[in-house]
Amino acid sequence: MEKQFDHQTSQAQLRALWLAEKTYSIENNPGQLYNIDTPPPTVSGALHIGHIFSYTQTDFIARYKRMCGLSIFYPFGFDDNGLPTERFVEKKRDVKAYQLGRSKFIEICLEETKSAEHAFTDLWQRIGLSADWDHTYSTISAQVRKLSQASFIDLYKKGFVYRTDEPALYCTLCRTSVAQAELDDKEVASFFNDIVFKDAYGNDLLIGTTRPELLASCVALFFNPTDERYVHLNGGMAEVPLYKISVPILPNPDVDVQKGTGLVMCCTFGDQKDIQWYKTYRLDYKQSIGFDGKMTKRAGFLEGLSVADARKGIIEELIKYNLLIRQRPITHAVNVHERCKKEIEFVLLKQWFMHILKHKKALLAQADNINWYPAFMKARYKDWVEHLGWDWCISRQRFFGIPFPVWHCTDCNGLVLADNAQLPIDPQETGPSSACICGGTNLVADADVMDTWNTSSISPYLCAQLLHSTDITSLDAQQLGNFIPMSMRPQAHDIIRTWAFYTIAKVWMHQNTLPWRDIVISGHVLSDEKEKLSKSKDNASLAPHNLLEKYPADVIRFWTASGSLGHDVTFSENQLKIGQKLVTKLWNAFWFVHTHITDIDTHTPPAQLGAINEWVLHMATDCFNQYQKALEMYEFSAALSQVEHFFWNIFCDNYLELIKNQLFNPDQYDQNQVLATRWTLYHVGLRILQLYAPYLPYVTEAIYQELYKKHEKTISLHQTKFATVQTKCQFADTAHIMQQIVTLTANVRKLKSSKQLSLKTAIAHLTVIIDDENLVAIIKQHDQLIRGITQAERTEYGCNPTNSSSIEEKDGVWYAVTSNVQF
Ligand SMILES: [Zn+2]
Ligand SMILES: [Zn+2]
Repeated sequence: MEKQFDHQTSQAQLRALWLAEKTYSIENNPGQLYNIDTPPPTVSGALHIGHIFSYTQTDFIARYKRMCGLSIFYPFGFDDNGLPTERFVEKKRDVKAYQLGRSKFIEICLEETKSAEHAFTDLWQRIGLSADWDHTYSTISAQVRKLSQASFIDLYKKGFVYRTDEPALYCTLCRTSVAQAELDDKEVASFFNDIVFKDAYGNDLLIGTTRPELLASCVALFFNPTDERYVHLNGGMAEVPLYKISVPILPNPDVDVQKGTGLVMCCTFGDQKDIQWYKTYRLDYKQSIGFDGKMTKRAGFLEGLSVADARKGIIEELIKYNLLIRQRPITHAVNVHERCKKEIEFVLLKQWFMHILKHKKALLAQADNINWYPAFMKARYKDWVEHLGWDWCISRQRFFGIPFPVWHCTDCNGLVLADNAQLPIDPQETGPSSACICGGTNLVADADVMDTWNTSSISPYLCAQLLHSTDITSLDAQQLGNFIPMSMRPQAHDIIRTWAFYTIAKVWMHQNTLPWRDIVISGHVLSDEKEKLSKSKDNASLAPHNLLEKYPADVIRFWTASGSLGHDVTFSENQLKIGQKLVTKLWNAFWFVHTHITDIDTHTPPAQLGAINEWVLHMATDCFNQYQKALEMYEFSAALSQVEHFFWNIFCDNYLELIKNQLFNPDQYDQNQVLATRWTLYHVGLRILQLYAPYLPYVTEAIYQELYKKHEKTISLHQTKFATVQTKCQFADTAHIMQQIVTLTANVRKLKSSKQLSLKTAIAHLTVIIDDENLVAIIKQHDQLIRGITQAERTEYGCNPTNSSSIEEKDGVWYAVTSNVQF
């Protein structure tokens, strides 16, 4: 064993070993299935520290469960279809999809995703994810397209999907409809404008609005039926300024009498209230903002202007004709598209929708049957579902996605679905296998692609298909056997409203079951400004590949273990330094003892262990029990604290100190005692490696390969099982007594160092004072041990009530006081 740990060389060697031996493949880890629904990262730009944070946290669990003897299925996916990828490619290549055309654009998207996937895999392997690299999927692959289209057909046939002319949320920058879950709120400065309309008799009517550019889309005015000022207008008509169009004046109790003038206009569409009124009163649809974000012909003199310019333009025009009475500056929240921050518009468009609103109750109930870690995250899910106001719009007017396997019949307005045997299919390139039921053959391919979440939300099926390598497009419950519900879904909290929600919804729709038993939610990494570090931000010093040059992967993982589940953390250079110290300490501790555990009979337990060994074994067992308890609740941070305490305080500071003399001067001791100590050291050492293995897979494996493999015969530490190392070493009585002895000898050591004496310096007279009469006699029995450790020439024992431990020297006598405190 080398004195120094060369992490760079070692990391490369061990990574190669794990790949060559398929250490983490499910085939090499038989047992009861534990399957993980790994989040497929979006292939849009580089990975950031937040990815490292959440993915290594999942890896702690996977490695732990594997060593518990479960058969871990830990596949890996890449989400490379859909809008995020398109935006990434458009930005990187400086192109616009609609200018390039469909096939050329898809071609470059495929090039970019391939290269991004290679870079991602390399990084994941370096950071030590124990995923099964023989089982990976990509959401644009033929198998996934096939399954996704089959899922659509199944849900269409079951009545969960519909297509209609519906007001949809639309991003004019990305040129596509989006789902409610893709909206963010943004505070913006604006004006509340009081504008003059006319009633049928030419009287002024003042209307307050923040969207004067939509005057051409005005379809009605509303007032509150209790508002005395306006009841006389009921049923009358009003004239829209500048455009001179006539619109009805209608009562509606939702109008806020206090707000503005109490008289409001309804445009198609300025906001969600407009949509509601449009539907309730069956109003006209007048589109004045085009799909390109420019004003349409309907807007007259504003045609061709952007929304912002049109707003300025119309205000100038209103001022010119004295039609603007007042302008008050305000700030208000508007909906923006989360990807590009463009303000969302509402347009009427044929869209595919998934029924959500009428299934809210069932979807809320599903959440109660899943274990949420941490538990409070369930409230976020429920809150989202309860407040949903839209069905899920699953169609997008983009290119690089999975097409709907559908043709529309122009003769009867019906539709023709593809056959499962035809999947995957691009309906624009291949026709249906049969005519429409009306007999019509004038079929037009559906031109939209699916929302990317529509595919990633069937991830349990994607994983099942990977493992069974069979065609599961029938999504048949029996065929899926015991694969679904999966054991665990790890994910970050910002996608509860999308990925978690949609997966719960779709597995319920397909099979009326749960997607997984447990959902484990990680937090985010915040920069110093307490802001989420997102992939779009360039933060070079925190870029994972730069960190991996500077620090061992183990050290970075140690930092990610410091975060507790569901909570955001700030990136901490200090935590990395602590991790660095730990890795060095681990290596040094094993280097210190390595010659004493290599050539021994590890399999025959000694007849007599002796008090020190019984104590450390008892403490190791205790540590393991606490560790297991924490990890079963996915509390990896608490579990690590247990190991930290055991390794630093019990093992290094005390146990090694207590046995040092035995190891280096074995002639002074009974040979059976020395063998017992070496046997214990071997087993406790292996246990320490195992406990740290999920967190620090490299350094623990490197030590295992050097010292343990030839005895244990298992190829990798990460395939050893906790149960094969003795777990039940209960020596409660010895441990209790030893704890007193450890405390008093540690105190003696402390006083020696503070007096700058060598630890071997003899003490002429040591008086041990214990606060428990019964314990005095028992501790006295270990007199020889105490003398050996402290180098005391003469010892005395007494009893005195106390509740603390201390050490002092008075007139050449050392007084060590110890209290019978429970530990
Ligand atoms: Zn957008
Ligand atoms: Zn037809």
